[in-house]
Amino acid sequence: MSQFRLRDLLIDRELFESIRTAALQEEGWDVEKQDEVKRFERNVLQRMRKKRPVKKYKKLGVKKSDLVEIIQLADISSLELFQGPSNLELAKRHSEWCNHCGKCCTQSSPIFIHRDEVKAITTLNPPLKDEIIPNQQYPEHYQFRLDQPCKFHDAQEKRCRIYDTRPQVCQNYPLMLIGSEGREHHIINLRPDCHYAIRLVLEKSMILFDEAVKRKSSGSY
Ligand code: SF4
Ligand code: SF4
Repeated sequence: MSQFRLRDLLIDRELFESIRTAALQEEGWDVEKQDEVKRFERNVLQRMRKKRPVKKYKKLGVKKSDLVEIIQLADISSLELFQGPSNLELAKRHSEWCNHCGKCCTQSSPIFIHRDEVKAITTLNPPLKDEIIPNQQYPEHYQFRLDQPCKFHDAQEKRCRIYDTRPQVCQNYPLMLIGSEGREHHIINLRPDCHYAIRLVLEKSMILFDEAVKRKSSGSY
C-alpha cells in the first residue's frame, strides 16, 4: 500500500506530475530558474510552518513533506479548480501584499511590451519612442532599451515615473499572462525575493491545505 500523502486528496499523483512538468516546460525553466523556484518554495514553507504547524495535525498523519507538496500544487494550479478565486482575483484582492521593494523594476529583463500597446504608450508619452525596441525572440513583442534597472524606476521615491502608461506586464506583476489567444491565464511569477508572490502562494497553500484536511477529517478518504 502506498504511503499517505495529503496532496493526493486534492489531485491525482500522476496528473499533478504531468501538470508540473508541463508548467516547467512552458516557462522554459532551466536549471537556474528551477533553483530559484526551490528558494521560493523554501520561503513559502518557512511561513507555512507557522501558519499550519504539523504538530497540530499529527493525528491525521500530516508531515512536513505534505506542506512542501501542497506548496508545489499552489505554485502551479489555480484555486478555481477547487471552487476558489483565480490568481488574478486573489492578487487584486490583496495588493497590500506588495511591499513596494522595487525589485521587479530593477531586476527584471526584458520588460516586454506587446506590439498592440506600443502606439498607446508612445502617443501618451512621445519621448518613449526612442526607449522602445523590438524584442529579438518574440516578434509580437517590444521591450525597453534599458532595463535592470528599468530607466523609469525612481529609486528615491520608490515609484514608476510612467505609472499611468506603464506596460501591461508591469500592471500584472507578479502575475504573468500566458497561453494562446482565448486560452490565456494568469500564473504567479515564483520569484524568491517578491513578497507579493510569496504571500499569494502562501494564501493558496493554506486554502488547499485546509481543504485537504477537511476531506481527510470527514473520513471520505
Ligand atoms: S511586486 Fe514584488 S518585487 Fe515588485 S515591488 Fe511588489 S513585492 Fe517588490
Ligand atoms: S515601466 Fe515602471 S512599473 Fe514597469 S518596470 Fe519600469 S519602473 Fe517598473
